[in-house]
Amino acid sequence: MTFTASRWQGFGTTIFTEMSALAERTGAINLGQGFPDEDGPAEVLEAAERALRDGHNQYAPLPGVPALREAIAAHQHRFYGIDVDPDREVQVTFGATEAIAAALLGICEPGDDVVCLEPYYDSYAAGIAMAGANRRPVTLRPPDWAIDPEALDAAITRRARVLLLNSPHNPTGKVLSRQELELIADACLEHDLIAITDEVYEHLVYDGEHIPLATLPGMAERTLTISSLGKTFSVTGWKTGWATGPAALVAAVRTAKQYLTFAGGTPFQHAGAVALGLGDEVYDALAAGLRVKRDHLCAGLEAAGLEVLKPAGTYFANVDCGRDGVAFCRELVETARVVAIPTSVFYDDEEAGRSLVRFAFCKRAEVIDEAARRLAAA
Ligand code: PMP
Ligand code: GLN
Repeated sequence: MTFTASRWQGFGTTIFTEMSALAERTGAINLGQGFPDEDGPAEVLEAAERALRDGHNQYAPLPGVPALREAIAAHQHRFYGIDVDPDREVQVTFGATEAIAAALLGICEPGDDVVCLEPYYDSYAAGIAMAGANRRPVTLRPPDWAIDPEALDAAITRRARVLLLNSPHNPTGKVLSRQELELIADACLEHDLIAITDEVYEHLVYDGEHIPLATLPGMAERTLTISSLGKTFSVTGWKTGWATGPAALVAAVRTAKQYLTFAGGTPFQHAGAVALGLGDEVYDALAAGLRVKRDHLCAGLEAAGLEVLKPAGTYFANVDCGRDGVAFCRELVETARVVAIPTSVFYDDEEAGRSLVRFAFCKRAEVIDEAARRLAAA
């Protein structure tokens, strides 16, 4: 038989899978894939345990368990003053990843263009391809990763339907300013675009402030906002996410999602309702702890002689290694036994990211210290 790969199978294994396997195989310190090496708040873990024991072990209702949908709506109101109806304007998903894929599948028609920032989180390119759409990247460059208004304008073709945004931004660690968000909002309004905004790092901000795109004038009615429990409560393996926004956009996500996975992760949904309702001190402690780790890693990278692009948010810091990042990462595993990720894999314009390398700092202080020591020695 001859098998012709479909348009998205060419994506192969994700860089995260590849690099984590490499770290595992070589015993290197894994600062590649972004996941914490410590558990989050005990109350959250206990809530999941309780949910398992209380018999919340069957399919969830398709939109998500009511307590979680109510907690998501309350979270949007508490932190941002956004009001959404838990029944019609909230959809629970298997992580933000499923929300992004379902949004693209549910909203795009084959041949549509999706404008996105590059470097972009890797599932965006695959999700856009699965929907039969085309990506139109707007390139961000160090040191400030600013959005160039002309590049944004040029990326918006007549076929553009969706603008897919991510702030705080992986892999750069940039937190978009109000001015930049206004630029994006103006473009959406002028060209009648739907905004899909990935805000999974919303509570991981160290400098500046996270501003949801949906809070800008005229944007609530055209913005689908996506987030998840993974980063905020250090439970990336729970894959409990959501999309909120106008009922029609949420319905599009729900329709696609029901045929991807239907509905589950039920005990984690119950735990998510407890987690989101925790006090401000829990949210603040997460950001405070990660700020220290960021500073620690950045100092270690600088001490190793690398040029560091200090991030304002997320789990990630980039360095400009001054040469080919892929070769640099390959050598780093050998010489320092540290795994990092060449940021160029997140760019279509590989030249723009050629010498950038991303390091994750969501690790215990002693792990970061040991990595810094090895980097300095190498
Ligand atoms: N978006 C971005 C920008 C991410 O970095 C991640 C983290 N893996 C995700 C989405 C996926 O989130 P989840 O694990 O909730 O699917
Ligand atoms: N978001 C994490 C990262 O960017 C992990 C993503 C994944 O493993 N798919 O490193």
